[in-house]
Amino acid sequence: SAEVVPQAPEDPMFGLSRAFKADEHPSKVDVSIGAYRDNNAKPWVLPVVKKADEILRNDPNLDHEYAPIAGIASFTSKAAELILGADSPALKEKRVTSVQTISGTGAVHLGALFLARFFPGTKKVYVSNPTWANHNQIFSNVGIPVAQYPYFSKQTKGLDFDGMKAALSEAPERSIILLHACAHNPTGIDPTLDQWKEIAVIIKEKNHFPFFDSAYQGFASGDLLKDNAAVRYFVEQGLELVAAQSFAKNFGLYGERAGAFHFVTSPAPDAPETTTRVASQLAILQRSEISNPPLYGARIVSTVLNDAQLFAEWEENLRTMSSRIIEMRKLLRAKLEELGTPGTWNHITNQIGMFSFTGLNEPQALKIREEAHVYMTKNGRISMAGLNTNNIDYFAKAVDKVVRE
Ligand code: PMP
Repeated sequence: SAEVVPQAPEDPMFGLSRAFKADEHPSKVDVSIGAYRDNNAKPWVLPVVKKADEILRNDPNLDHEYAPIAGIASFTSKAAELILGADSPALKEKRVTSVQTISGTGAVHLGALFLARFFPGTKKVYVSNPTWANHNQIFSNVGIPVAQYPYFSKQTKGLDFDGMKAALSEAPERSIILLHACAHNPTGIDPTLDQWKEIAVIIKEKNHFPFFDSAYQGFASGDLLKDNAAVRYFVEQGLELVAAQSFAKNFGLYGERAGAFHFVTSPAPDAPETTTRVASQLAILQRSEISNPPLYGARIVSTVLNDAQLFAEWEENLRTMSSRIIEMRKLLRAKLEELGTPGTWNHITNQIGMFSFTGLNEPQALKIREEAHVYMTKNGRISMAGLNTNNIDYFAKAVDKVVRE
C-alpha cells in the first residue's frame, strides 16, 4: 500500500521560489531561479515572440491536431541547423536525426533513455562537478550511474582544466561525457576553444560518447555561432554525439517546453541508414513517453527560425538580454571592488551566461537570505538576471556585509 511511500524533499530550486514569494520584505532580491528578468525585475516576453504569436493567431489554417511523433518538422530541421550550423557536414551527409522534446529536460531524458537501452557498453555518465542538479536524477532514473569529473577550481574560481582532463582520461572507455555546450550551469565558466580541442582529443582516444546539453545558445554571448562553437568543433572532428537543446532561455519560452534532441552519427558510408534506424527507435521511445510533443512553443520558434527578418529581430532580442546581463556583471564587480569587499571579484566578469558562482559558501548564502532577504542557492550561485540598476547597490552591500561577518 501507499503507506510505504516515504516523503521526498521539496525541489530546492522551486522551494526557494516559494519562500521568496512569501517574503514580504520590500527590498527582497530573487537571484535564485534561472529566468531572465528586465531592469524592473519583471519577466520579459521577447518582442519577436509577440510578433510570431500574432502571426500564428491570424493564421486561419491553424488547428490543434496532433503533431507527428518526432514533432513539427519545420521546427526540428531549423533547430538542428541552429545548433550544428547550417553548413554542418553532418547535415549535408544526412547523419542527423532530430526529435522535438519537452524542452531541454525532455531532451536530456530522451537521450539518457536511448543510451540506457542501446549503448549497453556504456557503464556510466560523467558529469561536471558541479552541474545542473537535474542531470543526476535524469540519468539515475533511467539506470545509468552518475560519476563526476572535476570542473570548478575553488582556488582560481575558474576551470580546473587539469583535473577535468585527468578524470576524462581515467574514465573507463565508452563512458558518456556530459558537457555544457556554453554558459555552464551553475559556474558560468566555459572551456576556451583550445581547451575544447584538447577535450575532444581525449574523448576520441577513449571512445567516450559526448552528450552536449545546450540551454543557453545566443543567450550567453548574444552570438549564436560563438555559443555553439564547441558542438560544431566536435562534429567537425567526426565524433558521434548527441545534443539536448532548450529554447526556454533564448526565446523566453520557459513554460512552453520547446526543445529538441539531436543524434549525430559518425561519418561512414552507411551513416544515413544507421541514422534512420536510430530515428525509428527514438520514435518508439517518444511514443511510449509522450506520444507527441506540444505545439505552441515549437510553432513560435519555427515561425521565427524560418523567416529571415524575424530571425534578425530575434538576434537583436538576444543581444538585449545578454548585454544587460554583461552590464550587471561589470556593475557588480565594480561595486564590490569599490566597497573593498574582501577577496577578488574578477570572476564575476570572467564568467558568462545566466549565472555567476560568487564564491559565497553555504553559511553565507543562508545568512544573506536571513538578514538581507537575498535569495540565492546554497552553493553561492546567483542568477545575474535577478540584478538590475534598482537593486544592485543593495545586493552588493549585502554581499559585502556577509563576507565580512
Ligand atoms: N540544462 C541546463 C544546464 C539548464 O540550465 C537547463 C535550464 N535550467 C536545462 C537543461 C533545461 O531546462 P528546460 O527543461 O526548462 O529547457
